[in-house]
Amino acid sequence: MNNFTFYNPVKIIFGKGEIKAVAKEIPADARVMMTYGGGSIKKNKVYDQVMDALKGHKVIEFSGIEPNPRYETLMKAVELARAEQIDFLLAVGGGSVIDGTKLIAAAIPFQGEEPWDILSKKTPVTHAVPFGVVLTLPATGSEMNSGSVITREETKEKFSFGSPFTFPKFSILDPETCYTLPPRQLSNGVVDAFTHVLEQYLTYPVNAPLQDRMAESILITLKEEGPKVLANPTDYDAMANFMWSATMALNGVIRVGVPTDWATHMIGHELTALHGIDHARTLAIVLPSLLRYKKETKREKLLQYGERVWGVTAGSEEERIEATVQATVNFFESLDIRTKLKDYDVDQETIREIVRRFEQRGVKNLGERADIQVSDVEQILTMSL
Ligand code: NAP
Ligand code: FE
Repeated sequence: MNNFTFYNPVKIIFGKGEIKAVAKEIPADARVMMTYGGGSIKKNKVYDQVMDALKGHKVIEFSGIEPNPRYETLMKAVELARAEQIDFLLAVGGGSVIDGTKLIAAAIPFQGEEPWDILSKKTPVTHAVPFGVVLTLPATGSEMNSGSVITREETKEKFSFGSPFTFPKFSILDPETCYTLPPRQLSNGVVDAFTHVLEQYLTYPVNAPLQDRMAESILITLKEEGPKVLANPTDYDAMANFMWSATMALNGVIRVGVPTDWATHMIGHELTALHGIDHARTLAIVLPSLLRYKKETKREKLLQYGERVWGVTAGSEEERIEATVQATVNFFESLDIRTKLKDYDVDQETIREIVRRFEQRGVKNLGERADIQVSDVEQILTMSL
């Protein structure tokens, strides 16, 4: 096992009826800005529950944070928060609202030239306004990590940042808030969480059997509960288990002591930036080709994953690896997520554009062995055509 430091200060409050807990988690004298998206929380009454809980607090609202949150929109929130002297933020929504709120939190006190530098130049965040979360979409794990992915519309760039200052103070996970999720978002959530686990598990072995088995447990739970929530989104237990799996997939627990890949996410972000394809769908496009392309360096873990998660035991190693990747593809497709670029009307021209962007930015050495170069990205994407 590799050396590690583990730090995760996020308080999780889990279960039905827990939204009322925001009242005691946010200081009574705080000036709160509640951030949310396009209005799903009004339709499903999560908005009313939060507002009820915040009675007595000074609250102003910032709505309209879009999926793949835009820098341009978030800077309007920063302006408003500064004018209103906001000292606590409350994100109510999915990964986009949470990620957006993390940037707002870091940008309000930002002293440098412009907050975009946090993303483009990796200017370190030195402090941030505290914030809490009411999660309505299990997928990203953003409710229990310090990472954030932001899109700049003007330049079609999608970059990420993270900082010890951008962990939520608390996150409330009430599975009942997810009953209104449409199939598209439920499928996206399952595939995003599943891929988060694979990015931290399908690397090279470092003799970390506990991390391996925790990763496999999350994968098996997602494989079992994912189809259940799609078939019946008001099945409380299925939603609760899916929700907690998605959080556990990216809260740092399975990452410690092991190498991590993340090339699928890096390449996927370009597809979203250029074509607006849902985040999870970009992962479903890139991951199978990446696994096939890197099957030599990922051999041992691919065989273990196949055997322990998909029951693949028959055939030569070569055959077992292919059957394992195909089982993953079949799982994604069974959730109605297509896995080829042509399914999204994306062709060779986009691959050339991604290669050009990576070269321009000097992106290289992706993956757990830092051995994926721009030319490999081109081949991986070509395999996904
Ligand atoms: P999302 O973009 O937050 O939300 C997708 C859609 O679902 C929105 O239209 C939203 O509507 C709707 N929605 C949310 N909750 C709902 C509910 N309970 N009922 C009905 N509709 C609901 O989706 P996401 O998959 O959670 O987040 C994706 C973003 O997270 C991407 O930008 C991705 O790159 C990023 N990401 C971050 C991390 C991380 O660690 N920070 C990891 C992976 C991905 P409204 O806008 O109306 O609410
Ligand atoms: Fe993701």
